[in-house]
Amino acid sequence: MCKNAIDENLPHFKYHPNAYRLGLFKQGPARRCSVCNRDTNYVYSGPFYCIDDVDAICPWCIHDGQAAQKFNGTFQGAVEYTSGLLSVVFNDDTNQYMYFMGNEQVEPIYDQSLHELLFRTPSYSSWQEPQWLRHCDDFCAFIGYLDQDEWMDLKEELQEEMERLQESCGLSLNQPADDISPYLFQCLTCGKYRLHTDFS
Ligand SMILES: [Zn+2]
Ligand SMILES: [Zn+2]
Repeated sequence: MCKNAIDENLPHFKYHPNAYRLGLFKQGPARRCSVCNRDTNYVYSGPFYCIDDVDAICPWCIHDGQAAQKFNGTFQGAVEYTSGLLSVVFNDDTNQYMYFMGNEQVEPIYDQSLHELLFRTPSYSSWQEPQWLRHCDDFCAFIGYLDQDEWMDLKEELQEEMERLQESCGLSLNQPADDISPYLFQCLTCGKYRLHTDFS
């Protein structure tokens, strides 16, 4: 039997269905979760934006929102939202999250799917700040890191996305390159693939 088999009782993340398979949780000897104080063999290894140094977070404390609440943090860097890139930062003075569209502060947004993504969904590892993509008025699921073969296999489905990226960053994406890292998302409603890239 495979020693690294994934425990079926682990919580499932709607927007991050492959989180365990993609290694966002380090599987190893039990460690104490900094939130629930229970021992866990799965320790979150992706980004978590908060002030404190957090030792170890288990998947359950991400899933039920306890980790974000305890540390006043967010798991996401920037997320596509109605009219731009949204990000949140906790303000210690007001004890509230500040919401930004680009660089401009906006009123707090109470949206279930947004809060699920920001506060109850692990992020992914990337060279630069991760971005979460959107389609059909909802957030996409993060599918994974594309290697060059997978990228080429999806070339047709990703044509539109490549053109969009090419226009926005002025780069040629016709050929995969070692310094470009593609992150694949898929719309949970219509199944369309979306692509985010960043550069080393
Ligand atoms: Zn925990
Ligand atoms: Zn869609």
